[in-house]
Amino acid sequence: MLDKTEFYINGKWDKPFEKNDFAVINPSNEEVFAKISLGTKKDLDKAIEAAKKAFKTWSCTDKDYKISLLEKLYSLYNSRWEDITNAMSLEMGAPIDWASSAQTTSGADHIKDFIKRLKEFEFEKKFDNNSNNYILYEPIGVCALITPWNWPINQITLKVIPALASGCTMILKPSEIAPISAMLFAEIIHDAGFPAGVFNLVNGDGLGVGTEMSSHPDIDMISFTGSTRAGKLISKNAADSIKRVCLELGGKGGNIIFSDSHPNAVREGVRNIMSNSGQSCDAPTRMLVEKSIYERAIKEAADEANKIKVDKAEKKGDHIGPVVSKEQYNKIINLIQSGINEGATLVAGGPELPEGLNQGYFVKPTIFTNVSNNMRIVKEEIFGPVLSIIPFENENEAISIVNDTTYGLGNYVQTQDKEKAKRVAKKFRSGGVYINGNSADPGTPFGGYRQSGNGREGGNWGLEEYLEVKTICGWD
Ligand code: NAD
Repeated sequence: MLDKTEFYINGKWDKPFEKNDFAVINPSNEEVFAKISLGTKKDLDKAIEAAKKAFKTWSCTDKDYKISLLEKLYSLYNSRWEDITNAMSLEMGAPIDWASSAQTTSGADHIKDFIKRLKEFEFEKKFDNNSNNYILYEPIGVCALITPWNWPINQITLKVIPALASGCTMILKPSEIAPISAMLFAEIIHDAGFPAGVFNLVNGDGLGVGTEMSSHPDIDMISFTGSTRAGKLISKNAADSIKRVCLELGGKGGNIIFSDSHPNAVREGVRNIMSNSGQSCDAPTRMLVEKSIYERAIKEAADEANKIKVDKAEKKGDHIGPVVSKEQYNKIINLIQSGINEGATLVAGGPELPEGLNQGYFVKPTIFTNVSNNMRIVKEEIFGPVLSIIPFENENEAISIVNDTTYGLGNYVQTQDKEKAKRVAKKFRSGGVYINGNSADPGTPFGGYRQSGNGREGGNWGLEEYLEVKTICGWD
């Protein structure tokens, strides 16, 4: 078993103040493969002291030097590609080939793009030519970065790299369920030569280190990705210290498929939700299909879901893996059962284990029809491979069903009518819209409306989250 009980504080691996071991489980076989420590306030305080001290110099460190360290980090990240991929596959069950092509790749893309943004970003500029006012962008200070387990390295690079680039210092608390890739990332930061105290990692859970971070008076900003439930608690706990709170939360994406869409649209929509075993915040979990093609769509969707293989994460090839934990497994199966109890029609999958998989947290790709907008499976974020198909009569009805949710992260539309696609895209109340299967480029902003959060990660928007803006009057 891997012993990962130390924290990375002030440039070295350090023992926790108290022994508080936590088992990291491989969801493909339910076996413990590593142990970490859950930190306490004392560990956090030590990391904050290191970060505060380092901020004095890192905040005014030369841009070229920062770029050279980030370029070193990028090259080390690429040299440890396989280790990162294996760690994520083990800790959260991403199938090994997909973990490499999607999860590890996303981290590399973010690092590369933030280097480019940093090179171009103007930290100082004149307000306008007729003014003697001057604008400065300055690092906000000591940041707490809290990340989830579902896209571990993607979330970590979206926070750590812009924080480093902007001149902030930080304490990362990765998900206690999938902390191993984060600890590997800390090794890469160390090897790249970042000064002691700039980056620190303290493991812990939400009730412990997560809550301490939220209320701590010496933390200037908290950047959180995770559930809307935790996002609300963090906001409340952070209120007294008026720290900046950037939230990237849950979603319940809609995917409108018009009758004139590409013949593969339904199958693509099914693949999209089932990918990562349904554990993506912007997954299109509600498929809205124009009535004239509804019956055909149901047949195609069920056929596609039945074709998706479910298997252990270490197996090569195209399949989906387990869901991350026993807790998530139970939640998903309960929601599938609630759909059945509330009268929805199951057309693929169901609550039973997939054939031949008696160990591990495996869920069959599951599809419901005959659903209504007040059923739990349609309202709640399931975070598993479960899709609901809903018919619609016309464009306005479809848009209003998609927007009838407390979330607003990613929505999708499929039609070959470009004007209609643009019209619909503008009416969605969400931070992201994906037309005809197109994806977001690195450097575009990612974030949500409403209860999907208030932040934007990626590119200049991601960088600006870590910056204060100062106006100096009388510069010239
Ligand atoms: P979670 O909220 O349970 O945990 C996320 C992180 O927050 C973990 O590190 C956890 O230890 C910590 N945490 C939990 N409770 C906390 C509290 N009260 N105070 C401080 N920290 C706390 O979420 P999860 O189950 O790890 O991740 C899945 C969720 O993340 C889903 O809802 C998904 O939609 C969301 N997510 C959102 C985005 C996005 O960019 N919008 C991206 C990925 C995942």
